[in-house]
Amino acid sequence: MAQDFPGETRVVIIGGGIVGCSVAYHLTKIGWQDVVLLERKKLTCGTTWHAAGLVGQLRASLNLTKLAVYTTGLYSNLEQETGQATGFKQNGSLAVASNEERFEELKRGASMARLAGLEVAVITPAEARDLYPLLNIEDLVGAVFLPKDGQTNPIDTTMALAKGARMGGAKIFEDIKVTAVHRANDRVSGVETERGPIKAEYIVNCAGMWAREVGLMAGVRVPLHACEHYYILTDPMPGVPADLPTLRDPGSCAYFKEDAGKLLVGAFEPNAKPWGMDGIPEDFCFDELPEDMDQFMPVLENAMHRVPALQEVGLRKFFCGPESFTPDVTYYLGEAPEVKNFFVAAGFNSIGIQSAGGGGKVIAEWIAEGHPPMDLADVDIRRVMPFQNNSQYLRERVSESLGLLYAMHWPYHQCETSRGVRTSPLHDRLAARGACFGAVAGWERANWFAPEGVEPKYEYSYKRQNWFPYAAAEHKAVREAVGLFDLTSFSKFLVQGPDAEAAMQRICTNDVAVAPGKVIYTQWLNDRGGIESDLTVTRLSEDNYMVVTAGASATRDWAWLQRNIPDDARCQLTDVTSGLAVLSVMGPESRALLSRVTGADLSNEAFPFGTAQQIEIGYAPLQALRVTYVGELGWELYVPSEFACGVFDTIMAEGEDFGLKLAGMHVLDSCRMEKAFRHWGHDITDEDTPLEAGLGFACRFDKNVPFIGRDALLRQKERGLTRRLTQFALEDPEPLLYHNEPVYRDGEIVGYLTSGNYGHHLGRAIGLGYVSHPDGVDADFVKSGSYEIEIACERVPAQASLRPLYDPKGERVKA
Ligand SMILES: Cc1cc2nc3c(=O)[nH]c(=O)nc-3n(C[C@H](O)[C@H](O)[C@H](O)COP(=O)(O)OP(=O)(O)OC[C@H]3O[C@@H](n4cnc5c(N)ncnc54)[C@H](O)[C@@H]3O)c2cc1C
Repeated sequence: MAQDFPGETRVVIIGGGIVGCSVAYHLTKIGWQDVVLLERKKLTCGTTWHAAGLVGQLRASLNLTKLAVYTTGLYSNLEQETGQATGFKQNGSLAVASNEERFEELKRGASMARLAGLEVAVITPAEARDLYPLLNIEDLVGAVFLPKDGQTNPIDTTMALAKGARMGGAKIFEDIKVTAVHRANDRVSGVETERGPIKAEYIVNCAGMWAREVGLMAGVRVPLHACEHYYILTDPMPGVPADLPTLRDPGSCAYFKEDAGKLLVGAFEPNAKPWGMDGIPEDFCFDELPEDMDQFMPVLENAMHRVPALQEVGLRKFFCGPESFTPDVTYYLGEAPEVKNFFVAAGFNSIGIQSAGGGGKVIAEWIAEGHPPMDLADVDIRRVMPFQNNSQYLRERVSESLGLLYAMHWPYHQCETSRGVRTSPLHDRLAARGACFGAVAGWERANWFAPEGVEPKYEYSYKRQNWFPYAAAEHKAVREAVGLFDLTSFSKFLVQGPDAEAAMQRICTNDVAVAPGKVIYTQWLNDRGGIESDLTVTRLSEDNYMVVTAGASATRDWAWLQRNIPDDARCQLTDVTSGLAVLSVMGPESRALLSRVTGADLSNEAFPFGTAQQIEIGYAPLQALRVTYVGELGWELYVPSEFACGVFDTIMAEGEDFGLKLAGMHVLDSCRMEKAFRHWGHDITDEDTPLEAGLGFACRFDKNVPFIGRDALLRQKERGLTRRLTQFALEDPEPLLYHNEPVYRDGEIVGYLTSGNYGHHLGRAIGLGYVSHPDGVDADFVKSGSYEIEIACERVPAQASLRPLYDPKGERVKA
C-alpha cells in the first residue's frame, strides 16, 4: 500500500537491516507510532540478507547475555505474533575445546550462563559426539552444550520485525536514502532525503557498515570498518538432520550450521581482510564480494579435521560478504555524546542477528526514558575516543577484530594492531626499563615491568601468567617501600568560572564548596541515584576546579559535564589531558623519597591527606595531590608534559636508597582490590547506587545545593538496601579470579564478581561483587553467610567482608 511521504515525524530510523527493523518494532511496542524507517535500497540488502543466522545467547557480560536471551524469546514468538514465518528453531549449540585452556574458558562461560538462567551442560567429548555424530573427537578435551540456542532465517526474521512494526503504526520506506542530518544547536532536528526533508525529534543510525558515514553527517563518531566475511555451503550431506545443533570449534576458527540438509561452514580467521577502503559503492544492494579461497582454505582444512565428512562432499557455494567490525569487537548502542537525540545501533561484529532483538528493545527504551534501561557501559557509544574514527586506525584494527571472536579470550589480552597511538612523555624511559605495555583508550600504559634479561611480553593463561612474580615484586615495593606509576592516561578537565562552584555542587555528591587546595573524592549520579562517574575534584582556586577521571571515561564524563552545566552558567570546560603527565609515587617511603627532591614540607601537618599544593621538583613546577588508589601514603604529581621527563629522572636518581620500583597497571589494580577501592564500569555503574556500593560517605545530603540523584538515594535509604558491594577473598591461595564468577551464599547464588585480581599482600585471590537478597542485605546478613565462588564450574570457599581486608582503618593512607 502506497504511503504518504511524511514531512515530519517523531523518530527517523536510518537503515532497514535487522537492527533498524527491530528498533522500529520495539518503539511501536512501547506505544510510539510516529516512527519512520528509511532504507536507501531494499530491506535487508546490506549485511543482513546473507548472515548465517546463528542465534547464540552467551555473551561476554551478564547484561549482554540477558539481551541475547531476550532475542531468542522474541524470535521464537515472532511468527505467531506477526504471521510472517521466521525460520527460527531452537536446535541448541555445542562449543568444543581441543585443549585444557579452551575448556577452562568454556567452563568459565558456562558458570556465567547459569547466572543468566541459561540451561547449560558441561559434557565429555563422547557426549558431544552423541549430540553431533559427524564430530571428530580424537583431540577434544570437553564441550559445552546450550540446548536453547538456535538459528533463524535473517531475511524472514527482519521481514517479521518490519511487519510487526507496521502493525504497530510505523512507516517503512524503501529506496530512499538519507543524505544529510539537520541539527538545531546541540540536538538533531531532522534529515534530508532523496525525497525531501523530514523534521524529527530523534534519529537512530542503524546504517550497518554505512554507520560511520551517516554518523559524520551529524558530526558523530561511529568508528567501524567493514571486513570480508566468509562461509561455504556444501552439497546435501547424509547425517545432517534438521535438528543438528550448531557447532562452534573456536580452536579451528570455524562454525558449522545445518542448512536444509547441507552444512554451512563459516570462518573467523585471524588477519581478516578489511573492505571498502575507498567507500562503499553507491549501488551496493544484495552484493556479494569475490571469493578468496586462499584466505578461507586454512579454516576449511581445520573444519575438515573436525568434521571429516566434509572431505567427501562437494562445495555448492562460496560466500563472501562485508560486515562491520569495531576496534573492541563490541557493538555500539546509545545516544551520541556529540549531539542530543542522535542514537546509534551499529557495528555488530558478526552477531547482529542474535543481538538485534535485545539491542532494538533497549534503544527504544533508552529513547523513551531518556537513559539506558540497564548498565550498558560495555556497548555504550560514549566509550568511543575521538581518535578512533581515524581510518588507518580502523583499517588496521579490524583486520584483527574479526578473528578475536573465536580467539582465546585471555585475561589481560592485548590487541596487536593499531598500537602506539597515544603515548606518555615517559614512554621511552619506561620501555627502556622493561615496561610491557597494554592499551586503554589508545593510551599505551605500562602494565608490568620485566626484569633485566626477561622479554616484556605476555604469555597468556587462565592460570598465573609469566608476569605474575614481577607484579608480586612491584606490589611488595608499593606496600613496603615505594612504587612509581605513570598515570598520564588519566583524563583531566578544568571547570572554570564564577559559576563553577554552583555547577559542580549540583553534579557532585560530595561537598566541593571547600577551600582551594582540597581534593574531594566524589561520584556523579543520575537522577535514579546510579553512579555515572567516580572521580576526584581538586579545587585549585576560587573559580577553578580540576576534574580527574579514568582515561577510558573521557568521552562519557566530558559529555556528562557538558550536559549538566546549565547553558546560562558562567562556566567554561577545558580538556587539559594532553598538557599534564601524572607520576604517582606511592608507598610508606614516598614521603622520604619525595622530600629528597623537593623543598616542600610533606609532613602530615603541612600536607595532609586530601589536599593539593603547587610544589617544585627539579626545574619543574607541578601540582601535587595527596591521594591514593592503592591504599598507601603517596602523592600524585600533575606535571606539565614538557617537564615530565625531568621530574621522572630526578625521582629515579634518588629512588634506590628507598627501594623504589617502577610499578604497572596490574599492580595498581591488585593493590586497589586489596583495599576494596571501587572501579567504575566494573564495581560501580549507572545502575548501582553509592549506598549499595558502600560509598555513602562521599554523599553530602546536607550541603547547600542538592546533588543530582539525592532524592533517589533518600528514598532508597528509607526503603533499605537489597544489595551490598562486598569484598571476597578465596580460602585457597591457588585459584585466580577475573570477574563474572557467580557468588554463592549458603549454597544459593546471591550475585557475581564485578572484578577480581590476586592480592599479593594477602596471598590469595580477591574479588568484589554485590550480595543481593530481596528481603534486604545488611552487615549481619553478609557476615552470617557461608560463601563460595564458582570458578569454571567448581565452587571454592571464600571469606566475605564489607570492610577492606587490607588496612581496614585506613591508617597507612594517613601515615
Ligand atoms: C558472512 C556473514 C555471516 C554472518 N552470520 C551471522 C550469524 O550467524 N549470527 C549473527 O548474529 N550475525 C551474523 N552476521 C552478522 C549480521 O549479518 C550483521 O551483524 C547484521 O545483519 C547487521 O545488521 P544491521 O541492520 O546493523 O546492518 P545492515 O543489514 O547492513 O543494514 C543497514 C542498512 O542501512 C542502509 N543504509 C545505509 N546508509 C543509508 C542511508 N544513508 N539512508 C538510508 N539507508 C541507509 C543500508 O542499505 C542497509 O540496508 C553475519 C554476517 C556475515 C557477513
